[in-house]
Amino acid sequence: MSQTPPVVIVGAGPVGLALALALIHQGLPVVVLEQRLQIPNDLRATTVQPPVLEHLGAWGVLDEALAAGRRVSQLQYWDWPRRLLLAELDYTLIEGDTRCPFRLHLPQARLCEILLAAIERTRPGTVRFGHKVTSVVLHDDRAIVTTQIHGGGEETFTTPRLCGADGGHSVVRQAMGIELGDEGVADTFLACTADLDVLPIIEARLSRALAPASYLYASQDWALVMVMTDAVRFLFRAVPDPEVSLARDAINERMRRFLGAEIGGRLRGLGLYSVRQRVAPSWHQGPAALLGDAAHGNLPVGGTAMNEGILDAHHLAWALAEGTPRAMDAYSTQRRSCALSLEAQDSETWKALRARGIWRRFSRNQYLKRISIHPVAARAHLLRLSMLEDRIGGGAVPDLDHE
Ligand SMILES: Cc1cc2nc3c(=O)[nH]c(=O)nc-3n(C[C@H](O)[C@H](O)[C@H](O)COP(=O)(O)OP(=O)(O)OC[C@H]3O[C@@H](n4cnc5c(N)ncnc54)[C@H](O)[C@@H]3O)c2cc1C
Repeated sequence: MSQTPPVVIVGAGPVGLALALALIHQGLPVVVLEQRLQIPNDLRATTVQPPVLEHLGAWGVLDEALAAGRRVSQLQYWDWPRRLLLAELDYTLIEGDTRCPFRLHLPQARLCEILLAAIERTRPGTVRFGHKVTSVVLHDDRAIVTTQIHGGGEETFTTPRLCGADGGHSVVRQAMGIELGDEGVADTFLACTADLDVLPIIEARLSRALAPASYLYASQDWALVMVMTDAVRFLFRAVPDPEVSLARDAINERMRRFLGAEIGGRLRGLGLYSVRQRVAPSWHQGPAALLGDAAHGNLPVGGTAMNEGILDAHHLAWALAEGTPRAMDAYSTQRRSCALSLEAQDSETWKALRARGIWRRFSRNQYLKRISIHPVAARAHLLRLSMLEDRIGGGAVPDLDHE
């Protein structure tokens, strides 16, 4: 009896692992090749959005994710220098639109551990850590992938289906001869994590508690605050000099000036990330397909890029199970179009954070105040932020745009 050769996935980030689990659920054999020796504990994604939570449910890992993360049901926008709450949006507004009307704050590394454990429970040995892909040769009907094994030796895999979930510097994408454009917005961000007890210090001067997901707008600066189960994550605009951005004294000073909190010994982790929005012109070619950061990059201000990649994984698993050129074309076209519209949405979020000039800030703030008292507009806004724009439906949504 002939055995179906496995789908080979390069990269055991959240997207590669999600694809492996989705393919296992489709009954397809799979091998994941990962250069690192274990899941890295980078300060990257914290937000898992409702449509991804729905898929985690279908893959049997939602309960575990919910137990490990923090459910977030409120989102706030603040005019920070005035400590004025501009808008508070409650996820009960989208209760009728999704089985998961909340976002989950869960560190990316923890989500990876949950996906990995589920894969290993079903198909032990699927994920090969310490396998760095050094060469990819593409033929019309198969790909030949060579890995350098940590500790010595090489292994070669021949597969009719190769998936590149290997991040921004994807070797699979390079072998496909596809380049990411550099026309999108680029910026550098500082992520830092602190103990939960900085919250009461920040909140001491507020009329009410911060929501676990809060956007703080100031005239020359901004911060995103994301409260997790055991820590608070802050995202700031980075200053041009990386050394200054990452210096603990500079961070302490920034927290003191911006948030009114002395962070002192409460700082747990730091990361500086330069990110550019970009979308590959094509996502599949012969035996190879791209997904996640290998296919698109996005700014971290909307909490969408990893989620986008996991939605790619869901669609690609379906297309691979169908096994037709038409299904692969649909994957490439539909997911690329979603990536482009999320890129546009997140660049609006980024512009709102930076809003230069009094008039821009005034109109942004007015827009937020208006949506907060208009349930139809607030629902549409929340659905967009939750990557559920397609569920807004045909009802009249008032045009409260701030531009
Ligand atoms: C500060 C910050 C905050 C963010 N917050 C959010 C958020 O809240 N929500 C959200 O949705 N997104 C967020 N993101 C984006 C998110 O982190 C990325 O979109 C996500 O990591 C992409 O996952 P991936 O699996 O596609 O790629 P990666 O996570 O980059 O994983 C790729 C994997 O491939 C492996 N690899 C690469 N090359 C090879 C090779 N040659 N051989 C073998 N293995 C290889 C790498 O080691 C890596 O493990 C944030 C990003 C940043 C920087």
